[in-house]
Amino acid sequence: MDSWDSRHLPISLHQEKLVHAIKANAFLVVTGETGSGKTTQLPQYLYQAGLGKNGKIGVTQPRRVAAITVAQRVSHEVGCSLGKEVGYQVRFDDCSSENTVIKYMTDGCLLREILADPSLRQYSVVILDEVHERSLNTDILLGLLKRKVFHPQGSSPGRSTSLKVVVMSATLETAKLSEFLGHCPVFTIPGRTFPVAETFCSLIGPKDTDSSVYVKEVVKVALDLHTGEMTGDILVFLTGQSEIEKACDMLYEKAEAIDYRYDVHDHSVEGLLILPLYGSMPTDQQRQIFQPPPKGVRKCVVATNIAATSLTINGIRYIVDSGFVKQLNHNSRVGLDILEVVPISKSEAQQRAGRAGRTTAGKCFRIYSKEFWEKCMPEYTVPEIQRTSLTSVILTLKCLGVHDVIRFPYLDCPEERFILAALKQLYQCDAIDRRGHVTRLGKLMVEFPLPPGLTRALLKGASLGCEDLLLPVAAMLSVENIFIRPGQQDKQQDAEREHRKLITKSGSCNDFTVLLSVFEKCRASDSPSTWCRDHWIHWRAMKSAFNVETQLREILLRLKKQNDFPMETFDGSRSELFRRCLCSGYFANVARRAVGRTFCTMDGHGSVVHIHPSSALFDQEAELDWIIFHDVLVTSRVYVRTVCPIRYDWVKDLLPKLHEVDAYELSSVARE
Ligand code: ADP
Ligand code: MG
Repeated sequence: MDSWDSRHLPISLHQEKLVHAIKANAFLVVTGETGSGKTTQLPQYLYQAGLGKNGKIGVTQPRRVAAITVAQRVSHEVGCSLGKEVGYQVRFDDCSSENTVIKYMTDGCLLREILADPSLRQYSVVILDEVHERSLNTDILLGLLKRKVFHPQGSSPGRSTSLKVVVMSATLETAKLSEFLGHCPVFTIPGRTFPVAETFCSLIGPKDTDSSVYVKEVVKVALDLHTGEMTGDILVFLTGQSEIEKACDMLYEKAEAIDYRYDVHDHSVEGLLILPLYGSMPTDQQRQIFQPPPKGVRKCVVATNIAATSLTINGIRYIVDSGFVKQLNHNSRVGLDILEVVPISKSEAQQRAGRAGRTTAGKCFRIYSKEFWEKCMPEYTVPEIQRTSLTSVILTLKCLGVHDVIRFPYLDCPEERFILAALKQLYQCDAIDRRGHVTRLGKLMVEFPLPPGLTRALLKGASLGCEDLLLPVAAMLSVENIFIRPGQQDKQQDAEREHRKLITKSGSCNDFTVLLSVFEKCRASDSPSTWCRDHWIHWRAMKSAFNVETQLREILLRLKKQNDFPMETFDGSRSELFRRCLCSGYFANVARRAVGRTFCTMDGHGSVVHIHPSSALFDQEAELDWIIFHDVLVTSRVYVRTVCPIRYDWVKDLLPKLHEVDAYELSSVARE
């Protein structure tokens, strides 16, 4: 059994008062230290108090893994199998049923549910969790739920304003949240935390932003700590899967060489258990994270930011903080959202440190210098709504009848230029018209949990009757990278050779076709898992892709049954047909070859880009003229990935659309 008991969590003393406060108020803000039991216990209290009788208790999480892991935990505590009374739903994975009362889900999923049922009739309570993370979808939900209950305009009569909305947040910003929600009460769960001694190890300075540098230093600090400090588990913060795997490999190797008779200071420690923790990890592996290590063994969890607030691991006494995080940011240089590694904010660093002081005094080792802290780290993390593309959420808002997207009640307003850019992109995809109203196509587009460009291409394919080409591609682009890139050099060469063969066999120099071909070959093989192993393809990712394809196909079938689904015809080769469909979604991502191996984008930014080495078209730049691409990676250069050669006349008529309308024109109507 676990080393802790939910009856001893700080929240347990307040069960009755909490239930009462929720019953008595339409809105309630609940705050308390991370680990106090908000996420796992509060929904159970409401369930026990009968609040689940007239509707579900929905709990949103900004992160997919958190939704799944917490649901697993709570179903275990409740004593039901997952998907029964306690379930979860995340994009492309629904593990809930009619009987589900406590439903954990991503904030994106609840947003989609509001589209189908704007008054959320299925729910008696909606809990927005981890609100301090300020994810884009959670911020939008806050604005929607605030309006819904204050002015249930347009919603069907009878929606009880009895829907209870609970907003949970780690300590920050509760006054602001309460004010935003009409000065609702704030319930604070008192908790005690222990002091954490913070050390700046000064191993990296403002210039050392290269991942290979900080990964090495993090490993060094973790090992020193292991050999020099008293018992207690270690939590290391890095930014993503490949880094974490690299760090774990290095830790294994070095830990093997430790002689516990001489090297280790505290002789009750005689082993190190190294565990990775990141988003796309298989869930059975994730479960291990929470189990206490065997006696005498120290646990070392190497995690992404998910361990900062979403998941609490018991027994952590030492933190090693790399100082970095992976973040989606809008890059104005290339005009696109890009996932990049950036320094964390000071408040984030404090949050990370606090994880060491939950049950006893702890220590936090920051690998960076005080100078790095002062010069590189901002005070607070900028909310996602102020730094990423708003295209999808603006379309969702428009479909919900929120016409004036500029005056929507945002907790923090995004810059107007971001809203305008989103409107412009929606107009370019034909999702809204010149007056800012959702088109028929826009209503179809909003049904797909995919980025707008990809959805547009898919719908074009469907109109032309070639969805069999587009569905697999959309699925493959929605899962983690399917190509395995092993760490060791010899293996890396094997993998690359196999991948090259796959590219050649696909018979085309076009990354989208390669994805399609891998998808089809794998599915057609007698043993898909063996096929994957032989070709250095992630079987787990492929399985998800098959699943996603089925779900996208179901959505499409449903939409095609509506009698006004637009149909078109085309005569030309299949390859041209395929590429033309891609053009209709990606014409904002068109580039033309400039000098040497470089290309120049045509979206008005005129950025210089290179084809990424992972592309089938890498090294063949000289033969290319016009290309479209799926996404961008910025390192020292701007790389485009998943590339397809096209002909100018396929986009000739589309390109003017990029400059045709002034975004203000779209929004001036929105202001009326
Ligand atoms: P909060 O939401 O207030 O941060 P949680 O409800 O997430 O707190 O966590 C309460 C306790 O439950 C913590 O001690 C945490 O370690 C434990 N816990 C959460 N998920 C799991 C799990 N999957 N396995 C074991 N313990 C868990
Ligand atoms: Mg929580």
